[in-house]
Amino acid sequence: MIYPIVKFGDPVLEHEAETVTEFDTPELRKFLEDMFESMYAAKGVGLAAPQIGFGKKIAVIDVSNGQNPDDKLVLINPTIVRVEGRQTGEEGCLSIPGFREQVRRGKRVTVRAQDAKGESWEKTGEDLLARAFEHETEHLYGRLYILRISALKRELMKRKIVKMQRAGEWD
Ligand SMILES: [Zn+2]
Repeated sequence: MIYPIVKFGDPVLEHEAETVTEFDTPELRKFLEDMFESMYAAKGVGLAAPQIGFGKKIAVIDVSNGQNPDDKLVLINPTIVRVEGRQTGEEGCLSIPGFREQVRRGKRVTVRAQDAKGESWEKTGEDLLARAFEHETEHLYGRLYILRISALKRELMKRKIVKMQRAGEWD
């Protein structure tokens, strides 16, 4: 099933999600399937559970956009364990549609997480994957990418969003 994407302004996006303690259940497998489906429908390369209204430490990533099954990653209870180098590039978020900003991230980022069975894994990603590891893991701690842009840009963005909310163009 395809879930609608929760937009900026909903408190679920700005609270730390709960740690997942139950693995290898039919409910979790179904939820992960729905997360991938929702992410592909929204044309994203990553999706965190709070973005579909669930405050759980679960994210999915596929930087190939469904082209390469090896790129499908399930991140449960992820933590960033290493950040090396630096990259600056345009970044957006499905929960803040219509906006993109230059965001500085690590060039190579190592994440440690659990899979659907609860097995721990660790992977180092570069470039887009490194950016996705940081972006999605931060979602699970209630942190949005706009915390990584200047306060002035962030304020301007928030003002535009408030206008859209009042006009009923943001729900
Ligand atoms: Zn996002």
